[in-house]
Amino acid sequence: MEGRSTVFTGEFLMTEKLYYENPGQTEFSARILGIEKDKKGWKVVLDRTCFYPEGGGQPADRGTINGISVIDVQKENGKIFHYLNDKPENDHITGKVDWDHRFDYMQQHTGQHILSGVLKRMGDFDTVSVHQGEEYTTIEIAQQEIAEEEIYRAEDLANEIINRNIPVEAVWTTSDKLDAFPLRREAKVTGKVRIIRIDDIDCVACGGLHTATTGEVGLVKNIGTERIRGRVRLVWKIGKRAYRDYRQKTEIISRLIDMFSARLDDLIEKIEKQQEELVKRARTISELQKRLAEMSAGILCEKAVETPSGNRIVVGRMDDIPMDSLRKAAIKLAEEDSGKAVGVYVCLLGIEGERLNWCLSVSEGLDLPFDRIRRELLPVIGGKGGGKYPLWQGIGEKIEGLNLFLENFKEIINSMERDKS
Ligand SMILES: [Zn+2]
Repeated sequence: MEGRSTVFTGEFLMTEKLYYENPGQTEFSARILGIEKDKKGWKVVLDRTCFYPEGGGQPADRGTINGISVIDVQKENGKIFHYLNDKPENDHITGKVDWDHRFDYMQQHTGQHILSGVLKRMGDFDTVSVHQGEEYTTIEIAQQEIAEEEIYRAEDLANEIINRNIPVEAVWTTSDKLDAFPLRREAKVTGKVRIIRIDDIDCVACGGLHTATTGEVGLVKNIGTERIRGRVRLVWKIGKRAYRDYRQKTEIISRLIDMFSARLDDLIEKIEKQQEELVKRARTISELQKRLAEMSAGILCEKAVETPSGNRIVVGRMDDIPMDSLRKAAIKLAEEDSGKAVGVYVCLLGIEGERLNWCLSVSEGLDLPFDRIRRELLPVIGGKGGGKYPLWQGIGEKIEGLNLFLENFKEIINSMERDKS
């Protein structure tokens, strides 16, 4: 480990940036100038590197150094730090950059330059900020809205520029000579400046990595817009991502065409028709359930049993009835005898799909010992729920306890009345 510095100071730690000299280079050999353990991993400075450090909206390169994964690459005070998840065994290393990852972001970045240039020239849709995400690239523009035709126009113009396969030039200059360049936005740097120029389409100071020509970007496709801070953000699929997106959407549409026995041009119409049909059927089902609830309640009412005080107990099953209708039925049954000399205790249970609904109610003036019911009856159906006078409701998971619940309800009411008299 002779000659290795563990202190990251001094000019000698400057790294030759091979990624600028040849952005297409993926393998390189280099020497370790400094290494130390950091909480993120082994922090390594090399004399030269193809690894692009995170910056300018572009993420850090991935890859390996002597077969060890490079988990991050960062630039601090002009130094480039490679973070490795293990320590390299010797000072002479071979680095390999993950080209798929790198090229993906070169496409994102260059595509964004083309789009920002086109949008600016189209009508002052100035780019305010950009984000190159893992799924898509976004461009926020200095406008509150943009018409769909304008987005399509930007997309078409950008794809024309891609088809023309124009060189993407990187020119080094100094901050005092920037007047010679028609910059899209002001460069806030001093000293050496790197200018990225695409013919008369875009010209901007940028430290990122780009494809050699516009043709390598392949394709740009807008997939939507978002609103942010009162402005519009355009969402793009660029390069291979646009092709993958096209493939995925074609697969989805092909499946829908099969499912709906449709053609591409009447697919939406068929889906809409089916949706309308579903809404109609849901309405019919709801109406039928309501009627079923009323009929079942009528039958249960006829089978009511009398309590020692001459009140009535209505218990029974009402399957396939939604909780809402069950509750309405319980209230109605309890209210039916309101104002009369006697009242009604109501206990309704019903299986709906996988679960059990329960609902209890009483006529005004009658007591219901809900604490006792909670203690003695709910466990029978593995139930939970509650409520307040005169309505209690909930669900249960032990459907097999249904009959016992109904029987015991009657007994609890009868014994309560006997105790009172
Ligand atoms: Zn750039």
